[in-house]
Amino acid sequence: MELYQLTAHEAHQLLKKRKISCKELTSSIIERIENIDNKINAYITKLFDQALKQSETIDNKIKNKEQLHPLAGIPIAIKDNICIEGTPVTCGSKILTGFKAPYNATVIKKLKDAQAIFIGKTNMDEFAMGSSNETSFYGPVKNPWKTDAIPGGSSGGSTAAIATDEAVLALGSDTGGSIRQPASLCGVVGFKPTYGLVSRYGLIAFASSLDQIGPITKDVTDTAILLNTIIGYDPKDTTSQKYTTPDYTESLKKEIRGMKIGIPKEYFIEGLQKEVSFWIKKAISKIEELGAHCIEVSLPHTEYAVATYYLICTAEASSNLARYDGVEYGYRHSDNTLINMYQKTRKEGFGTEVKRRIILGTFVLSAGYYDAYFLKAQKVRTLIKEDFEKAFRSCDVILTPTSPTTAFKLGEKLNNPLSMYLSDIFTISSNLAGIPGISLPCNYAHNLPIGIQFLAPYFGEEILIQIAYALEQSNFFEKRKPVI
Ligand code: GLN
Repeated sequence: MELYQLTAHEAHQLLKKRKISCKELTSSIIERIENIDNKINAYITKLFDQALKQSETIDNKIKNKEQLHPLAGIPIAIKDNICIEGTPVTCGSKILTGFKAPYNATVIKKLKDAQAIFIGKTNMDEFAMGSSNETSFYGPVKNPWKTDAIPGGSSGGSTAAIATDEAVLALGSDTGGSIRQPASLCGVVGFKPTYGLVSRYGLIAFASSLDQIGPITKDVTDTAILLNTIIGYDPKDTTSQKYTTPDYTESLKKEIRGMKIGIPKEYFIEGLQKEVSFWIKKAISKIEELGAHCIEVSLPHTEYAVATYYLICTAEASSNLARYDGVEYGYRHSDNTLINMYQKTRKEGFGTEVKRRIILGTFVLSAGYYDAYFLKAQKVRTLIKEDFEKAFRSCDVILTPTSPTTAFKLGEKLNNPLSMYLSDIFTISSNLAGIPGISLPCNYAHNLPIGIQFLAPYFGEEILIQIAYALEQSNFFEKRKPVI
């Protein structure tokens, strides 16, 4: 086994026992990236020099027998919409060319305190708008399982990096499924926390009422460890929640006997790939074998979720992205009049999908259309939230496929936004409701991974870790690694 293949919890044990050094581990990841990333394009910025320097500091700590945080010396990849002070942050956009983050995001500060090692910034759909990672100014990320397929989006760089062992851990952001959908298509674990559990301070805003940072890992144990490190109240984020946070690794020890699992009838739709449906049903049987009870539940407003999401997220994006005008951040077109400079900077700096969303969002917020679109979407959002509240009266968690299909081909949906938007159908309702969700591998179809999703009520992170771990440990299918 190569060092780059280790999970964080395995690496931690070996570091502690001095069986490996942090420098060896970090060098192994760097070598892996250098050998294969030209085929995957997972990284926008590589931080190798500082990572190696940091690894020496950790090795000294180990030599001095100092206490090690479970993430000390563990190489982590950070999605390129999360700010690391003094480091370029591009959001996958031309418009942020040359911009360096002036401060650390709260999650970065927490990871620094834990002494995790930042190995690089990962590729993503421009401003996190996309489901395929094809809208990045830095070129598409390739799916590690089939390089002519998409890895999912928008955190496709982070999920591909984990699938290919180009990082031990990664962070992504999830506004409408951007952690869970690419995790599903790349065959890794992706977790979207409850809205307000993880600080958004230093996460470049796309749709502020939906955005949430979360872990992307090789297994559920690592998810629990990374979650433990990044959660917590932050006065710098007004939507941060004061919640006494548990130790999520405790959930790994609990059985699922007697747990009630809701299966929403609206999620087994036409258009669901037959292998996805087959393996999700197999997983349901496995979970019942483990002692949980599965019951049917209803989420009747699911059919409006995609439309609602694309009204709310575009409205918020149009406002959040107004700040990129060539004055303060990144790219500036040199024109002699102010208005021309603004216009040309935005015309040349933003890609097609971002412009489409700004225009749509401006339209739905404009006087005369506000009530018909934005306000109505907010009302439907409440109905979607209530659907979940009702469903959780009769079950502890909800089980669904993460994505209706396995990874599609690069270019297949790029010119058909509606079909692209429909690939988010199972992930966006939970963002609208603010509840947590996890995606984990659930076998393969034609050597492409299938993902299964669990959703829980607000602050139900513990039960999600519990059920996901139980299923992961049941070994109900044989795990594979992509061959690069
Ligand atoms: N695919 C969705 C979109 O394009 C989700 C994006 C996200 O979660 N950041 O908006």
